[in-house]
Amino acid sequence: MTIQNDFASLGLAAPLLRAVAESGYTTPTPIQAQAIPLVLAGGDLLAAAQTGTGKTAGFTLPILQRLASNPLTKAGNGRPRCLILTPTRELAAQVEESVTTYGKYLPLTSLVMFGGVNINPQISALRKPLDILVATPGRLLDHVGQKTLDLSGVEILVLDEADRMLDMGFIRDIRKVLALLPKQRQNLLFSATFSDEIRSLANGLLTNPGCVEVAKRNTTSELVSQSVYMVGQKQKRELLAHLVRQNNWEQVLVFTRTKHGANKLAEYLVKQGIAAAAIHGNKSQAARTRALSQFKDGSLPILVATDIAARGLDIEQLPHVVNFELPNIAEDYVHRIGRTGRAGSPGHAISLVDGEETKHLAGIERLIKQKIDRATPTGFTPNPADALEQERDQRPPLAARGHRAGSGNGTKGGRSQPGTSSSKPRNNAPRTESSRPAQDNRRPAATAKPSVTSGSRPASSPRNAPRAALFSAKSGTRNH
Ligand code: AMP
Repeated sequence: MTIQNDFASLGLAAPLLRAVAESGYTTPTPIQAQAIPLVLAGGDLLAAAQTGTGKTAGFTLPILQRLASNPLTKAGNGRPRCLILTPTRELAAQVEESVTTYGKYLPLTSLVMFGGVNINPQISALRKPLDILVATPGRLLDHVGQKTLDLSGVEILVLDEADRMLDMGFIRDIRKVLALLPKQRQNLLFSATFSDEIRSLANGLLTNPGCVEVAKRNTTSELVSQSVYMVGQKQKRELLAHLVRQNNWEQVLVFTRTKHGANKLAEYLVKQGIAAAAIHGNKSQAARTRALSQFKDGSLPILVATDIAARGLDIEQLPHVVNFELPNIAEDYVHRIGRTGRAGSPGHAISLVDGEETKHLAGIERLIKQKIDRATPTGFTPNPADALEQERDQRPPLAARGHRAGSGNGTKGGRSQPGTSSSKPRNNAPRTESSRPAQDNRRPAATAKPSVTSGSRPASSPRNAPRAALFSAKSGTRNH
C-alpha cells in the first residue's frame, strides 16, 4: 500500500508512513522536516525545540527506520539498541507511547522505565529482547547497578529536554550513563534553551552535528493573549474560582510555586464544586498518571501543577494557563505559557499577581519585551471570611508541628508526605519544588493516595469529545 503524504518525501519507509497517516498527520512540522533526513543519514543532531513542536516524531520516526533497516545487529535481552533519556516520568511515558504508535508496523520492541513504581515488572521486561529503551536517568542507573540492563549495545542515544535534565541536577547521572555506552554511536540532543552547560555537554557528546532550530528562546507566541490580575495572595483562590465559573473555563492548567500550595488549591477548588487535582513530584505515579489522563480527556477541568511536574506535558490545544503565583525565574513564565496557544490555536495566559510579586512581573516583562495587559475582574467581591479560613488552611499540617498527622497535605484522607512543605516551619515562606528526587525517585514513591479528583464539574461544562489535534491532524485520531 502506498501512502501519499509529505512525509514520503523525507525518505521514510512504508510501514512508518502508514503509522503516520493513521495518526492523522499529513504535513511534517518544521522540526520533523529538518530533523528526519539528518537522523536518517546517520549523523549527530543538535536541536533547539520544545514540547509541542512535534519533536518526538522528529526523532522517533527516523530512529525506528534506522533500527529496522539495520539487519546486522540484533536486540539482546535487556540490551537496547537505542536509549532515549528524558527528565520526567510523564515525558518518558509519552515518548514511549509515540514509539509504539509510530512503530506499530515494524518488528521492534520498546520499554519505558522510570522511578516511583515497582522495579520488578521492569526487570521481567528486561529479560526479553529490547530495541528501544525510554528512561529517566535515576532508575536507569538502578538497573545498571543491579545488572539487569546492559548498555553496551546502544547504537543511538537521545537526550530529550536536555536543559531540563541539567536543571534537575541529572548531569552526573548523564555522565555516568555516557561512560557505559559504546563510543561508536549516533547522538541526538534536544533542548529548549542553550546555556553554557548545555553547550559544553553538546561539545563533548556530538560529532559534527546537524543543527536544527525551530523555536526562538524567550519569545511568547502571538496566539497567546496574556493578562495580569493584581490581587492579594489571600484573594487569589477566590478570584480563580470566580474566573473559572464566570468564563466557563473547561480546561485550565494552574501553576503554583510549591507542592503544598498545589495541594491546598486543588482541595479548595473541589470544596467550591470545581473538580481539580494536583500533580507534583510527591504524588504517587498512579495519581499523577490518573490526574493527567483525566485532564487530557476533558473529565477534569483543573490541573494544578508545579513547574517541574508540568514540564514536557503534551496536552493538545490547552486553552488556559493560570499562574497562581509568578515563577521566580522569568524564563519559566515563557515555558509555562508555552503550554497554551500551540500549533495555531489561540490560548490565554492569566497571572494572579500580588504586590510582592511585582518585581518578578517586571523581570518577565523585560524578558519578553512586552507589557502585559492589566485586567480587572468583573463581578468579583472577595469574602473576608475566606482570607481568614485560608490563613488557617495554609498552616502546615499538624504532623509538621509535632502533633498527630492529619490530612493537611491536600490528598483526601492521605498521609503527610515526606518532602512536602508540610515539613516546613510555620512561617509559610514559599518554597519551590525541589527537583530531582521528586521526578525520578530512586526510593519508592510516596504512598499517598491520589489527590482530590471528586467534586462536580461546573454545570456548564459537559466535555467529553477529545480536543482537536495539533497542526493539521484530524481530531480523535491520536493516541494521547
Ligand atoms: P511533541 O512536541 O513531540 O510533544 O508533539 C506535540 C504534539 O504534536 C503531539 O501530540 C503529536 O502527536 C503531535 N504531532 C506531531 N507531529 C505532528 C504532525 N506532523 N502533524 C500533526 N500533529 C503532530
